[in-house]
Amino acid sequence: MADFKAELSNALAFLPLGGSGEIGMNLNLYCCNGKWLMIDCGISFADERAPGVDIIVPDAGWIAERKDDLLAIIVTHAHEDHVGAVARLWPDFQCPVYTSPFTAEILSLKLAEEGLEGEVEVNVVAPGGSLAIGDFQIDFVDLTHSIPEMQALMITTPHGRVLHSGDWKLDPDPVVGPASNLEKMKAVSQEGVLAMICDSTNVFKEGVSGSELDVQDSLDALLKGIPKGRVAVTTFASNIARLMTIAEVAERNDRHVVLVGRSLHRMTTAAKKSGYLNTLPPFLDEKDAGHIPRDKILLLCTGSQGEPRGAMARIARDEHAHITLSQGDTVIFSSKVIPGNEKTLYALHNQLTESGVNVITEADEFVHVSGHPARAELTDMYGIVKPDIAIPVHGEARHIRSHCELALSLGVKQAIEITNGNVLKLAPGNAEIIGNVPSGRLAVDAGVLTPLDGDFLKARRRLVYNGAVSGVVIINEKGQITEDPIIRLRGVVDEDMFPDLQAQLTKEVITKHNGLTRAQKQSDDDVEEAAAQAIRRVFRRLASRRPITDIYVIRIEDE
Ligand SMILES: [Zn+2]
Ligand SMILES: [Zn+2]
Repeated sequence: MADFKAELSNALAFLPLGGSGEIGMNLNLYCCNGKWLMIDCGISFADERAPGVDIIVPDAGWIAERKDDLLAIIVTHAHEDHVGAVARLWPDFQCPVYTSPFTAEILSLKLAEEGLEGEVEVNVVAPGGSLAIGDFQIDFVDLTHSIPEMQALMITTPHGRVLHSGDWKLDPDPVVGPASNLEKMKAVSQEGVLAMICDSTNVFKEGVSGSELDVQDSLDALLKGIPKGRVAVTTFASNIARLMTIAEVAERNDRHVVLVGRSLHRMTTAAKKSGYLNTLPPFLDEKDAGHIPRDKILLLCTGSQGEPRGAMARIARDEHAHITLSQGDTVIFSSKVIPGNEKTLYALHNQLTESGVNVITEADEFVHVSGHPARAELTDMYGIVKPDIAIPVHGEARHIRSHCELALSLGVKQAIEITNGNVLKLAPGNAEIIGNVPSGRLAVDAGVLTPLDGDFLKARRRLVYNGAVSGVVIINEKGQITEDPIIRLRGVVDEDMFPDLQAQLTKEVITKHNGLTRAQKQSDDDVEEAAAQAIRRVFRRLASRRPITDIYVIRIEDE
């Protein structure tokens, strides 16, 4: 395993640094004869394991150290888990970026936010276009997804051809953007495909994911049954087809669409620049909502996952500057519940319900279709591409295992379970994992990157779940404690309920201190450590808790 790097100088290899063994922060690398191509560079959203952190990016340090051999970044589509980290990590890579017009539009907004306007060479490739970079010949193939211009990549190299699927589904009526170009997929697959690196998100779902046009029909019927009151619909701002669906349904039901939330304005502006949504009547601004009768309005809101700062949560808390909802109004959640967001989202549903608002979700009505392939679609794609090797990505370990089993059952010769950091040699010779490189997750905190498992965030986690104790130990020249130590707690236990706690802490600290040798008493470190140990022992017994403990020693001179 040790010299896999030498082997890479004459081979085709795949190396994921994000998105394999997890859903989110996709970062895929392909190596051909020692030169690298990066496909996607996305973010993940943090959960309660990283308190105070919103965004996580892949640790791309390994490829950053080899940036001279990194030829380009290609972005398959504009979802955050594929494009979201490009602007932040690009300074480590300094290579050209290639992507479709709509994705380039979204990327340019992000580059501007990072102050990288004009710095980054962003090459716009027409959907279905092709390009050659070093030994890589790349053909873009349109596949439908929940955002326009998702491009699968057929990558041809001297060692063979791989299909990198990106995120996809087979939607015959995608409402916005081109349908999947299966004719082209067939044509480019004809000469033989060594491996397909493919989306695993919905591998547990039988059948097909469903068509956007069906959602449109269902939402139309639903709105016809809601003649009175305001209707608010929330979905992902990037789901341009769903925005189109909602706007069309609003028009058919004589309601004006009001955009509520900044990201909706950004996304619709970017979509219009790329030629989408232009057939619709203009969207209204939230400031105009007050002038429109309640039964003539459709509020299109951000915050479909219950994000506290999203429009929907602010409206539910009655904290929105311009928009209110009340008894008899309706909210439609036209999106899935992302695993992990259930509690927040159900709390939001309850809050709305309690104020008399009628809440409709995916569980009640047909108001959403997924953008990822269910088993029948995966089966179709294997039938078209006919790869020798299946390499499932964009999934947790259980998705990847199940996807491998599906591929083998469809007659694919080899299926390889891969996880972030695995170096998978595809050719020449047998496909096998020949090494591992460092990979990991970095939190964006106060604008800088810090390891998710590093000491800094470990301390914050400990602080959140255990609280903190600070103490001052006052000793004289002989090292004796002359008065009671000062001990202050923050978020450890409710002190009002433990009236003897201060006395107990004082006693334990003094007893422990008195047990030190004369020499130890002259060492501040030893005195601090003894007091900290005594305090920690109290809380371990009392509440199985390990508060962060900071002790200060003050030595006073004898009079
Ligand atoms: Zn994705
Ligand atoms: Zn996606």
